[in-house]
Amino acid sequence: MRYTYKRDRNFEQPFFNALVLKFDGKESRRLINGYPAYKIRCPYCGKKGAAMGTAKDKETFIMLCPTDHCASGGSKTLHQLIQDHANSDQWEAWREGHWVDNYPWFGIKSQTEKIKGEGKTFKEKQQIKSETARIYSSRSRN
Ligand SMILES: [Zn+2]
Repeated sequence: MRYTYKRDRNFEQPFFNALVLKFDGKESRRLINGYPAYKIRCPYCGKKGAAMGTAKDKETFIMLCPTDHCASGGSKTLHQLIQDHANSDQWEAWREGHWVDNYPWFGIKSQTEKIKGEGKTFKEKQQIKSETARIYSSRSRN
């Protein structure tokens, strides 16, 4: 295999932090997959109610948005967020830090499919809604 995609949350953490800031993130008292979660304004639909946290594999990060028909399709990986919302320096640093290539550099293939709102099943959408509701429910205890 020509490229190996390195998964390492220590490398990804600063990118995650930068986007949390950019999306008006506030730390939640709840966790996502055992790690700190942040309440954010969704960069795809502009609505509050979205969250960012650690993905299930614990080596990368995710954004969840419960809004119906949001262009995020309900969730995005940090990779997709960087591609869509980071500046070009961050995108370059992200790519170069992730892809290990033993051959001359030709640039990576970045055919990230644009997932529209209908891409997720009903069950997946319900899971996103209940997960984000859980993150936001901590607000009522303040
Ligand atoms: Zn959204």
